[in-house]
Amino acid sequence: MRKFDLTILGCGAAAPTPSFLTTSQLVNIHDHLILIDCGEGCQLTLRKLKLKFQRIKTVLISHMHADHVMGLPGLLASMNLLGRKTAIDIFGPEELESFVKTIWHKTGTHIDFPVNFNVVDHAKPSLLLEMKSYKIEAFPTKHRIATCGFKIEELEGSWHLKPETKDLFNLSYHEINVLKKGESINRKGGVVVDPNKFCIAPLKTRSYVFAADTAYTPKVIEGALNASLLYHEATFMESEKSIATKTMHSTASDAGRIAREANVKKLLIGHFSNRYRVLDGLLDEARSVFENTFLSIEGETISIDYLD
Ligand SMILES: [Zn+2]
Repeated sequence: MRKFDLTILGCGAAAPTPSFLTTSQLVNIHDHLILIDCGEGCQLTLRKLKLKFQRIKTVLISHMHADHVMGLPGLLASMNLLGRKTAIDIFGPEELESFVKTIWHKTGTHIDFPVNFNVVDHAKPSLLLEMKSYKIEAFPTKHRIATCGFKIEELEGSWHLKPETKDLFNLSYHEINVLKKGESINRKGGVVVDPNKFCIAPLKTRSYVFAADTAYTPKVIEGALNASLLYHEATFMESEKSIATKTMHSTASDAGRIAREANVKKLLIGHFSNRYRVLDGLLDEARSVFENTFLSIEGETISIDYLD
């Protein structure tokens, strides 16, 4: 099975505390490493967990709030100190490039590897990157400043011929290509070669959706539709609904509703307010709406499963 997993590096809101660091996650899809958000202390966590951060090729930044970006200038500076030469592609808000470069300038930091900043359109869904076996899309969320969620999705592979099929039918190059698309061959004389019988179907595709920060919004339902795993912020419980509304964050119950309405397979909640020392209440609240819910735990790696 091809690797597709998620490691939680930070799952707290607002500011790092002894209990939680701020938002950062590492996705490994088919051995490509993608960093999502980069809260303060992210590079330390990557090192503690012995994750090979020089292999990170892509960074996705949801928005400019401090708890999602403060670790980025330092992480890139450390990559440089450790001799990085390969390029890194960063996708995020328009202000990100000047934020990072101002810090480098003011601290006399020189970066000797290519850092490519790409501005994400926060107003509508967009395709950020399409690789051979997966793609990354962004979609708008609802927050106090321009913010995006991200969807990382495997692309459907091709059908594979069973070993005996080629000789059995003496297939031409054109016919092989037809079967690899999952289409039947209809030869003159009534011979039909059905890929369901003579080929191995491609693996099902999996997807991971990241939605933080955000208040409840149908835009996230659209972005997360049928995802294998949805990470949705659950900063507050319903008892703090008025603060959630004012700060444009979600409650655990909101996260559960989004998961249910988007028909996702599994929900992971995070971005917990520091007021909660015990998270059981948040979990219970989300589970009362969407049963297959789990808490983010820093340092833990979650495998993204195939859909049934
Ligand atoms: Zn925020």
